[in-house]
Amino acid sequence: MSKIMAVNAGSSSIKFQLLEMPEEQLICSGLVERIGEGLMSHYFFKVNGKVVLDRELPVKDHAVGVQLVLDGLKELKIVESLDEISGVGHRVVQGGPYFSDSAVVTEDVKAKIKELIPLAPLHNPAHIVGIEAFEQALPGVLNVVVFDTAFHQTMPIENYLYGTPYEWYTENKVRKYGAHGTSHAYVSQVYLDTTGTPAEGSKVITCHIGNGASITAVKDGKCLDTTMGLTPLDGFPMGTRSGHMDPTVLSYIAEQKGLKLDEIINILNKKSGYLGMSGLSHDSRDLENAIIAGEKADATAEQKALAERCRLAFEVQFKRICDYIGSYYVLMGGCDAIVFTAGIGENSAYLREHICDRLAALGVEIDNELNWDGSIRGKIVNIAKPTSKIKVYIIPTNEELVIARDVVRLSK
Ligand code: AMP
Repeated sequence: MSKIMAVNAGSSSIKFQLLEMPEEQLICSGLVERIGEGLMSHYFFKVNGKVVLDRELPVKDHAVGVQLVLDGLKELKIVESLDEISGVGHRVVQGGPYFSDSAVVTEDVKAKIKELIPLAPLHNPAHIVGIEAFEQALPGVLNVVVFDTAFHQTMPIENYLYGTPYEWYTENKVRKYGAHGTSHAYVSQVYLDTTGTPAEGSKVITCHIGNGASITAVKDGKCLDTTMGLTPLDGFPMGTRSGHMDPTVLSYIAEQKGLKLDEIINILNKKSGYLGMSGLSHDSRDLENAIIAGEKADATAEQKALAERCRLAFEVQFKRICDYIGSYYVLMGGCDAIVFTAGIGENSAYLREHICDRLAALGVEIDNELNWDGSIRGKIVNIAKPTSKIKVYIIPTNEELVIARDVVRLSK
């Protein structure tokens, strides 16, 4: 029995889960946010889904944030001593061409993550700060890195090379790397385990649709293709990201609006997608509620117009999602199952209904009553009708569990 920390350090936050392994039991979770912003930071701990500690105070950097997490564990008597923590697993967004599996942290591993900072300027520096803060706070404890890109390293070159000069690839590492690999790997494996399907010969399309979103073609249990590219801006529109477009949009809009390249990239990352298209919110629930409000008999003209914008934002995203699903169906020579996961994929019956409707040409048929049944939330369910040519599963993702499992695996 040992306690493992699964950590997701962002530029101004530290999200964590403490798990009992190998029992795979969640002991507690928490978040420290607004680190180093010069404002009041906020942190909380949750046990059994209930907030057990919630405080605001200034947190100047990640090292202080990590110390608050460890002090909180002792104060709440979640651990008697920090010696009970036998390993820490860190999510890392970009592992570039170097990592096709998780790795024990060494100086060389840290140097590679730093070398890849130009490919993930928002994420990799924060991961390094998080790793070093835990190394300092828990000396001698095993640190493991788990890469979002590792699962996608099995893609053949014709699926990850861009149609750009070859030297951009050989000299500058320009290629598709993918993202959310931990989630795609986890839900595709859960699908195989749940249905007793052998990996060999299996064809699964996993749709990780949360605030960030990507789709992966998983053939023989391995990634064959995925929608995210050099960075998580690629693919289809998400909560605040635009997804793929004609790259000339950048130079054109720079000239039209007098914007610099980094300002445009920032807009494409943070002010596009649902937020940009609807003008309302990045959160799919707000868009769904606005659509419902606009459909009421006494809706005002403004409510109706807003509902139309929200519907349009969804339609653009759903169309693009189905483009990818259709192309992966062709790429794999068929598909056994489509799997929905992450915040929206797991929770939005609206999204699943509209996407599956658009996939009728592939023989997809869902039991829409089951799709909308609130009691399926958090469960592994096949919502396809028995007559459907493709199974349609909802599988809750659990990236922290994969991280904790990898720490245990690499500790042996
Ligand atoms: P994630 O990035 O996977 O945490 O997903 C976050 C997103 O999931 C939120 O921004 C919401 O849009 C969406 N979400 C969470 N719960 C629901 C729900 N009950 N219905 C629709 N969307 C949801």
